[in-house]
Amino acid sequence: MNIVNKDELCPVCGFNFYAKFNAKPWGKRMPADEICPSCGIQFGYDDTAGGDLKDRSCIYKEWREKWIKGGMKWYSRGMKQPKDWDAKDQLKKIIKTAKWVV
Ligand SMILES: [Zn+2]
Repeated sequence: MNIVNKDELCPVCGFNFYAKFNAKPWGKRMPADEICPSCGIQFGYDDTAGGDLKDRSCIYKEWREKWIKGGMKWYSRGMKQPKDWDAKDQLKKIIKTAKWVV
């Protein structure tokens, strides 16, 4: 099993952001400024929350709920959905006790 640091994954959907962009969604204080191809959140734009980390996690939670309700669809049009992409599997990496209705 590969060990992945959580901060390398998209905090909304669990997409392996680092593997794709060779950058974490957020570095020390700087966002990657990239859009997660899986759920569509743009780090440094959709999640600025005035720099408040607590608020940021609320944004992620809300974004995740919206994404789940929308059927957990692959967001990016420019980047093809990987063949082995599994939204649920991906989510499990960030939320162990994930509960969602599809
Ligand atoms: Zn994402």
